[in-house]
Amino acid sequence: MTIHIPICPQCGYDQRGQIARWESQCPLEGRCTECGAEFEWAAVYAILAQWGSRVDWYSEHADGWGELLKRSAGTMARLIFPRRFFREINHRRAIRLGMLVRWTIVVSVLLHLAVSLIGFPANKGEYAWSQAGYGEVWRVSFVDSLCNTVSAATFPFAAFVQYEDGAIDLRFPFVYYEWGDYMLIAWVIVGVVLCWTVLMGAVFLLRWRENLDRKHELGLFGRVIVLSLLPVPIYIQIVRLGFGIHAATGMTSATNWVPVMYVISLLVLIFWQQVLWTHAVRTIWQIKRSWVINIGGCIGSFIGGVIFAIWILA
Ligand SMILES: [Zn+2]
Repeated sequence: MTIHIPICPQCGYDQRGQIARWESQCPLEGRCTECGAEFEWAAVYAILAQWGSRVDWYSEHADGWGELLKRSAGTMARLIFPRRFFREINHRRAIRLGMLVRWTIVVSVLLHLAVSLIGFPANKGEYAWSQAGYGEVWRVSFVDSLCNTVSAATFPFAAFVQYEDGAIDLRFPFVYYEWGDYMLIAWVIVGVVLCWTVLMGAVFLLRWRENLDRKHELGLFGRVIVLSLLPVPIYIQIVRLGFGIHAATGMTSATNWVPVMYVISLLVLIFWQQVLWTHAVRTIWQIKRSWVINIGGCIGSFIGGVIFAIWILA
């Protein structure tokens, strides 16, 4: 059982000595003997009360699917800025890794469904669907529509085609395109997470102390790992969307804004991963001289991530 102590809101210094000096009643304001900061005692107790508490906009802290969904947009929006995110979702808040994993799966599925809308015009544009072919009338029937919908959801992996005689065929119309190569670069994102995990795992082993709440520490570690994997489904959907627009508008391979956009979004997502990890090192784990770990982690994980992807894909 870990005992949580009242700390200075400014420097984190233990305030139990001050509290022991109270004579008859709790004063409203106090001053930290360590850093000299003046604070209201209510603020000290508000921090103490954060231990094991939940935050009302955060999906990991949701009760059930309804709340999980309702909080998804807010959670995503706040995750854009990890520094602000960790200020609220700090190391004191309740950790529910099962719920967090469930949320990342839900977000991945929702993103996939949203991007699937581009699959309708994309499949049509590439004549993948309907044997009627280019310039012919688009046949409309129930099975037809069903095939169309499924093909949109599986875009650009597979398309289901119904022939005049009613027979259904499965086609892989985009097998000759380079979209798969762009999608596979997502391994770099996975590699970055692996590198940070190894680095911070080593740091934890060095700091491992008897009085450390191991379950809590591992939970925090797990939270950052799961959150930093979010760019994987996001990047894959960006590739789908780019390819879908490309196919739907019938652009030729001469337009190279698509691969440029992929590379830019990949770099932005990797940058976000670095911001997430460095803020976790500084604020969640409160590691002294964090810049040593952070500079090494950023450079090392980027190089390591690229090497990992090359190793996987080679
Ligand atoms: Zn202080």
